[in-house]
Amino acid sequence: SPTIGVLALQGDVREHVRTLGRLGADAITVRRPSELVRCDGLVLPGGESTTMAKLARTFELLEPLRERVAAGLPVFGTCAGMILLADRIVDGTSDQETIGGLDVTVRRNAFGRQVDSFETELDFAGLDEPVHAVFIRAPWVEAVGAGVEVLSRVPEGPHLAAGRIVGVRQGPLMATSFHPELGGGDRIHALFVAAVRRA
Ligand code: GLN
Repeated sequence: SPTIGVLALQGDVREHVRTLGRLGADAITVRRPSELVRCDGLVLPGGESTTMAKLARTFELLEPLRERVAAGLPVFGTCAGMILLADRIVDGTSDQETIGGLDVTVRRNAFGRQVDSFETELDFAGLDEPVHAVFIRAPWVEAVGAGVEVLSRVPEGPHLAAGRIVGVRQGPLMATSFHPELGGGDRIHALFVAAVRRA
């Protein structure tokens, strides 16, 4: 079974480890380069992206992460993890570093105060039935490069953010604005694990 790491510097690591384990992956936490080397795939969890980026630099993981992404490692970023994968951030703090690799512009804390955190059902490319999506001070994807596939958008309806992009894929990189590890079932992780197995 593939070894899939969960970056464990900060944020909601445990639910990802559990979900990956249920799907038959060998799930490990990653805090140091020697652990990253073992990974066939990597999850970047939600949390606080500025803190995670700073810790990645402190733990001397930022350059190794960039190198593995450049070499084609399958990576799935959720929420803050999506921000870490993005090539461009708007409303980031001026010195915020990312791992990068995903040709998107992400807006942090995009949904605004009134709808700070919310849950909804979303259509998601590759899944027959909608998924339950939990958004917590989530980013959205404001612009995508030519090679980026849109997997999911906020549905039409009363929501102010209707139509906003909240799921993307570019080759081995996948990202969601929301937290599929929080009560959304295992289907989105299953898409990622399948991609790791194919890689
Ligand atoms: N708002 C957080 C950030 O900008 C992300 C929130 C989350 O991961 N749930 O990093």
